[in-house]
Amino acid sequence: MQTLPDAHGYFGPYGGMFVPETLMTPLRDLAEEYERARVDPQFQADLAALLGDFAGRPTKLYFAERLTAKLGGAKIYLKREDLLHTGAHKINNALGQILLAQRMGKRRIIAETGAGQHGVATATAAARFGCECIVYMGAVDMKRQALNVARMKFLGAKVVPVTAGAATLKEAINEAMRDWVTNVRDTFYILGSALGSHPYPMMVRDFHRVIGVEARKQMLEREGRLPDLLVACVGGGSNAIGLFHPFLEDEDVKMVGVEAGGEGTLEGQKHAARFFGGKLGVLQGTKTFLLADDDGQILITHSVSAGLDYAAVGPEHSNLRDVGRADYVYATDDEALAAFHELSRTEGIIPALETAHAVAHAMRIAPTMGKDEIILVNLSGRGDKDVQQVAEMEHVPLKR
Ligand SMILES: *Cc1c(COP(=O)(O)O)cnc(C)c1O
Repeated sequence: MQTLPDAHGYFGPYGGMFVPETLMTPLRDLAEEYERARVDPQFQADLAALLGDFAGRPTKLYFAERLTAKLGGAKIYLKREDLLHTGAHKINNALGQILLAQRMGKRRIIAETGAGQHGVATATAAARFGCECIVYMGAVDMKRQALNVARMKFLGAKVVPVTAGAATLKEAINEAMRDWVTNVRDTFYILGSALGSHPYPMMVRDFHRVIGVEARKQMLEREGRLPDLLVACVGGGSNAIGLFHPFLEDEDVKMVGVEAGGEGTLEGQKHAARFFGGKLGVLQGTKTFLLADDDGQILITHSVSAGLDYAAVGPEHSNLRDVGRADYVYATDDEALAAFHELSRTEGIIPALETAHAVAHAMRIAPTMGKDEIILVNLSGRGDKDVQQVAEMEHVPLKR
């Protein structure tokens, strides 16, 4: 399983390179350069130094003692990606890709962003390397995520509003791809999740594998054994695959990815649970499970967390589900909000709303497991960015 994808970028029947002809050569160049970088000790040393000194790795493995006691079942550990610079796992990938851009001599960086977290991580990496940075963002998202727009601007990035269609993430990706086609000679596209055309799903996964590699070692040191269950939220699937991948050969370690159930998958289409009601299709470079109508038109998704609100899931997850190596469930908006508050009050850790979906599933499942069992939850990000949104939803006054 470690060797996937194949040479054409397929994880079983999923993945591939579904892009316009003009992007085939740059994508092949990127795949080749990445293959060289991956086995280059200097590249790996540079990346490790950046992750350590700049991003703050290794992140802690933390025993959630009070949450565990309250739920009365399995021991719950948290992998603290929320403690990283810029507040989430996304910086792992942004730093990996910007190093690759330097290797390829490309000094103009573009990215897409939905909630703004990947845009912030990319703008941070670009500032660190003195690169020009352009971030495409849906006009609707820019309004919803004004704080992250300001952060990107302070970091020196240009944020370009995209007004087409629903003016959210999908349209922003289309614009970024259009820019890349036009400016491919000097431009590097830093893609934000384990999605898109080959080699991105593999490359993004590899840059996040450090999460699982560290967690595996830390768990062995701490408990003398591996966890029984891994839990992570799944938007495109990058934090989840980063945690899961180093455990794939450990047959006794179960893994669950948690999608955004929105208002519930039975009450219409206000959700982003691609494995519940989704179908096989192609979107933005990759063949995978996605939410589309009978004519193949991509549906508008919904989640309380902008980072899980996308119509397609990373192709490697589709394959892990097919072969039965990982299970996928969903948590609703309400369950995620309840988990957001529970972790905040019980452990003193305010999680991102995306992350709260994983916490919600751990809260559901821990009481059904034995006290000698262990759950490891990937705490993908911190909730600072979501404080205003939750306060408004719950009518908590922010001004006197
Ligand atoms: C972006 C984001 C996610 C979702 O993206 P994945 O690629 O599925 O990991 C999850 N958690 C946080 C905190 C995020 O910022």
